[in-house]
Amino acid sequence: MSARDGRIVFFTGAGMSAESGVPTYRGRGGIWGQYRWEDFACQRAFERDPEKVLDFHEQRRAHVLACAPHAGHRHLAALQRSGAGVAVVTQNTDGMHQRAAREACGAPADVRDVVELHGSLWRVRCPCSGAVEDLAGGRYARRRCETCGAALRPDIVWFEDTLDARVLARAEALIRGCELFVAVGTSAVVYPAAGLIPLARAAGARMIELNVEDTGMSHLFHEHWRGTAGDLLPERFPLPEPAPAP
Ligand code: NAD
Ligand code: ZN
Repeated sequence: MSARDGRIVFFTGAGMSAESGVPTYRGRGGIWGQYRWEDFACQRAFERDPEKVLDFHEQRRAHVLACAPHAGHRHLAALQRSGAGVAVVTQNTDGMHQRAAREACGAPADVRDVVELHGSLWRVRCPCSGAVEDLAGGRYARRRCETCGAALRPDIVWFEDTLDARVLARAEALIRGCELFVAVGTSAVVYPAAGLIPLARAAGARMIELNVEDTGMSHLFHEHWRGTAGDLLPERFPLPEPAPAP
């Protein structure tokens, strides 16, 4: 299997960042065991108490900053940079794919081919200017829009939100056009994201599931690679050889 084999979509979930130490939202040690999402991760909570919701997201930002991209993130970034038709569609909001790319090339990542289905901890948005990047650190650079004065909302798909239709359409287009679809570290239970797996299958892609265990959608995949993202991505997707000098 190589990145020369055609257009590839890597569809990543929380398991992609597990080896970096980013906490999951569900299951043992998951955030929603500790915090009620109704108080911290929905539009209604934000309207009731924006400061409390922003404090919570600053904690998430600080935690993610204390973690680092692992070999699997770096490898995907290198594959994307190698010019192969490699796209990443992620359910993660931690920005690790872009950070790996930024740290590797020292330049802002080209984010066109990292589709963030559920938004990003590293953007805020307001009614007047839409989504804007905020990479300030653990704390948000500002909590209110300087133009319209509105409280800046984390640009994350919260509970009870719908996905941005343009972002979903971009993911669907990439998936319809891919020859190889690799799901990495997703339990495939959160919709509509999970629906991208049967979409890839119906579109005729070769399907690989990379996960430490089976999921409810394992039957849709042709191959099941059991192991971790950090080990298997570099091992199974060698970087293309550089073209020989003319
Ligand atoms: P999930 O927690 O439901 O499932 C994680 C999957 O990863 C499991 O199937 C598990 O077996 C697998 N896994 C664990 N460690 C792995 C490893 N090292 N290598 C490969 N696979 C591994 O995650 P999900 O399917 O992404 O759904 C969770 C939802 O919560 C998503 O919608 C996402 O937006 C959000 N979320 C995001 C983050 C983040 O940004 N890092 C973290 C937690 C949750
Ligand atoms: Zn504004």
